[in-house]
Amino acid sequence: MKVVVVANQKGGVSKTTTSVNLAAYLGQLGKHVLLIDLDPQANATSGIGIDKSKVEKSIYDVLIGKGSMDGITLQTPEQNVWVAPANLALVGAEVELVHAPRREFRLADSIIKNESINRYDYVIIDTPPSLGLLTINAFSAAQSVLIPMQCEYYALEGLAQLYKTIQLVKQKSNPTLQIEGLVFAMVDSRANLTTQVIDEVKKLLKDKVYETMIPRSVRLAEAPSFGKSIASYDKTSKGAEAYERLAKEFLQRNGQAPTVPPAAAPTNETGSTSTTHLQEVSTP
Ligand code: ATP
Ligand code: MG
Repeated sequence: MKVVVVANQKGGVSKTTTSVNLAAYLGQLGKHVLLIDLDPQANATSGIGIDKSKVEKSIYDVLIGKGSMDGITLQTPEQNVWVAPANLALVGAEVELVHAPRREFRLADSIIKNESINRYDYVIIDTPPSLGLLTINAFSAAQSVLIPMQCEYYALEGLAQLYKTIQLVKQKSNPTLQIEGLVFAMVDSRANLTTQVIDEVKKLLKDKVYETMIPRSVRLAEAPSFGKSIASYDKTSKGAEAYERLAKEFLQRNGQAPTVPPAAAPTNETGSTSTTHLQEVSTP
């Protein structure tokens, strides 16, 4: 079992879209996944197919010690994916936990305490756009951080800040925390700055930068309003292909093969597996 936190303190950079769709494709590839929604907006909860207005017990109850992870976990419509949902109650958690014992380790403790957590291959945590106590709890509970980023110049400043926070967490609460990788999301091939930004990020994170890039795609933005991952909403769309490739790259980087063989990958005329490179990415 591996715990991966999806984080970037900058808002709207595809954290939730990446959490939901990576979870869905890992599920389709035969892995058992627990998606933990640590954002009071509860977008991952609704995006994976759970009506957030009907969530009675959420990750909030776990954090304040009024519930167990198993007690709040729900099965989702996505194959092999379960969710520890969020709801608005989570808004209060940052304040309520300030004076709680082991306030930075509430999530880590609840994961360790839960023996059945080992039935999952991966735990993916979606975080809010801040570096507050909720995100720190996620960093303290995780083995690694996956960073979605937009190809914009000012995103580099945010990345430097996130990098500093990760170093601080390593010193203070989680010395073995690693960087899982950085994924460029909402990539727009028309943007001139794109390659410059990618070069800068590669200087910092080197081979941690994923080959797979997620294009800007209307279908990806539509899927959550139907409570579906892109795999369920439109599996032939560009966004779906990209997230399927991302899940495969993720497994490969973790030295793991898919548990069930996926359907044959589409091939081009030369017979090689088709891959989308940045130059080919376009807006639908
Ligand atoms: P927040 O910081 O508010 O939690 P976030 O980082 O989780 O935001 P998302 O909610 O995943 O970001 O994405 C922000 C918006 O952009 C959403 O409306 C989402 O549907 C849309 N979006 C995300 N990825 C893509 C994409 N590749 N193409 C088009 N739209 C996208
Ligand atoms: Mg989000």
